[in-house]
Amino acid sequence: PRSRFYTGVRFAVRRTGAAVSPYSKIMVGPLVRLCNVAHRYATGTDALADINIDIEEGGFTCLVGPSGCGKSTLLRIMAGLIAPSHGTCACAASGKRGEIGFVFQDATLMPWASVFENVALPLRLRGQKDAEVDADVNDALKRVGLADFAAEYPRALSGGMRMRASIARAIVTRPRLLLMDEPFAALDEFTRFKLNDDLLSLWQANRWTVVFVTHSIREAVFLGQRLIVMSPRPGRIASEFRIDLPEERKPELRHGHRFADECARVGSAFAEIAGVAS
Ligand code: ADP
Repeated sequence: PRSRFYTGVRFAVRRTGAAVSPYSKIMVGPLVRLCNVAHRYATGTDALADINIDIEEGGFTCLVGPSGCGKSTLLRIMAGLIAPSHGTCACAASGKRGEIGFVFQDATLMPWASVFENVALPLRLRGQKDAEVDADVNDALKRVGLADFAAEYPRALSGGMRMRASIARAIVTRPRLLLMDEPFAALDEFTRFKLNDDLLSLWQANRWTVVFVTHSIREAVFLGQRLIVMSPRPGRIASEFRIDLPEERKPELRHGHRFADECARVGSAFAEIAGVAS
């Protein structure tokens, strides 16, 4: 695994544009740093204001908040898909080098291509050789539990399996940063729980840095180590929590009092934002 030290060096190089000695301790930093970020769309909508966040490498952070509070905008800024209209976003992971994986709510698979070819797309786009493409795609499909479905077309898959294929496509380049925008919102609860469990196992095995957007407090508490609650118009950080649960989240945790207590703690912050007495 890459060390934090390495991350810090790259972060500093991008920020200053200068070559920095890899032996300088001063350069250790987070994987993503947003400073005083605000964003106004061309339509005049103020989507974000006063956003200051550091995302440390290897963590699982959930962004929660009501619809329209700027969660997707924030994720797109982290991905480098849009530039903030104010402030800075410094990210040590590079999309061009395949170090950022993005998973959308819709699986966005190409219907005319097999599961294998869908997952292979990011590798083909960067001109990877066929033999390496085969090895990497098969590995990614195995990791998401789709090893036997490589030759199928998306229409033959269930919603949950399509999302697994979408996750495989995002992780096939072995990203350092995995950005997930409400990936399981359209799935039934059983499928969502299973995908949550499998995503956590994958994260524990690979330790990518994950930023996961969801509407669901329960999903955020179950998955995250750190939870950032946002409020709307314009989107701001309303509060932040460290989730006080064991790092290994077994499925049965969902039925225990510790989980319920954590959901209640976060839920009261959420209720305040929504203007409901808590
Ligand atoms: P969330 O993900 O929390 O639902 P978004 O980031 O999608 O929030 O949206 C934040 C605000 O910005 C909303 O008011 C939304 O209507 C507006 N918005 C989002 N995307 C665009 C866009 N491309 N052009 C104009 N306004 C947008």
